[in-house]
Amino acid sequence: MKCPSCSEPMEEGWIETESLVSGVKWRKEINSLSRIGVGGERIYESNLWGIVHIKAERCPKCRLIVEKY
Ligand SMILES: [Zn+2]
Repeated sequence: MKCPSCSEPMEEGWIETESLVSGVKWRKEINSLSRIGVGGERIYESNLWGIVHIKAERCPKCRLIVEKY
């Protein structure tokens, strides 16, 4: 995939994060409930050790990451 900003080739890789209970969620806005993890649309589950891996591509020059879920 080419970077949508500069058109250079993007690197393939993984975003890795820890989230034992909720996995990774998508939110349209941050509010008082989101600060304690209530609500949101879960888009990735965590594994048994609470780690989430998200397949993505990035452009280090533009600091842009593109991810499809
Ligand atoms: Zn770029």
